[in-house]
Amino acid sequence: MARPLDSITREALVERVRFYRDLGLTEFYRRPLDPALLAAIAEDAGQPELIEPVSAEALRPALYAELGHAESHEEHTIPARRSFPAPPEIAAAVASAERAAGLEVIREDIGDCTRCALHKGRNKLVFGDGSPTARIMFVGEGPGADEDAQGLPFVGKAGQLLNNMITAMGLKREDVYIANVVKCRPPGNRTPEPVEANTCSPFLFRQIDVVRPQVLVALGATAATYLLGQRQPLAGLRGRVHAFRGMQLIVTYHPAFLLRDPRQKKEAWADLQIAMRELGLKPAAKG
Ligand code: SF4
Repeated sequence: MARPLDSITREALVERVRFYRDLGLTEFYRRPLDPALLAAIAEDAGQPELIEPVSAEALRPALYAELGHAESHEEHTIPARRSFPAPPEIAAAVASAERAAGLEVIREDIGDCTRCALHKGRNKLVFGDGSPTARIMFVGEGPGADEDAQGLPFVGKAGQLLNNMITAMGLKREDVYIANVVKCRPPGNRTPEPVEANTCSPFLFRQIDVVRPQVLVALGATAATYLLGQRQPLAGLRGRVHAFRGMQLIVTYHPAFLLRDPRQKKEAWADLQIAMRELGLKPAAKG
């Protein structure tokens, strides 16, 4: 038998549902509410004894009423909202485990994806990697051969260079989040076709929305094009901060390009220093 919700616990639940709604994760409403999540929320609110266990069906009417929506699930269709930022106190209250859960929902939604032609040549889908609460997120173009084999982004030679760049910024790879515009390897490492990038990039946007880094770094022209929604030469986009959905977006060269033309590393470092300034980071001491 479900017990009545304490007002503090109810407010914590409502804030949590608002957070997911702000992320556009409307699917959240249609999934069974996880008893472990409910217990964690109750504990956050200092009321651990209140959830033992309250059924999801019992909770939904109370949550919908608090949010000012119809109680009926069928009538309750909340459109995805793409504006940012969500209230910072709500964002701050969301723990790492919950963001990880948000990423898992996206991964589940992608599934064994055949939405575009790139699925035909892939070995492993490359979803993303890193900290769900990263303050900085790097976005590349798509997986290469090593990434396709391992199912992880930036693990080949370009990945080693990216790791070095991250270390030079005074960070560790596990501090950042890394993803690509497309999650399956384009044949011969060609640039993704617009139809492929446009089909896949909504998943990237959802990942960004969940991780919600302070700074995004677009690695190369393809990432810059699909994040900013405009095709421009890289030279015109580098060297400054772009406003992006309440975050700061920096554009720089793709590490694979820097491997081909190492003279541009200095320029890339100048771009990363802009990101570091935004994050209040100092360069790593040379060992
Ligand atoms: Fe699906 Fe993206 Fe892979 Fe295309 S690239 S098949 S949209 S996961």
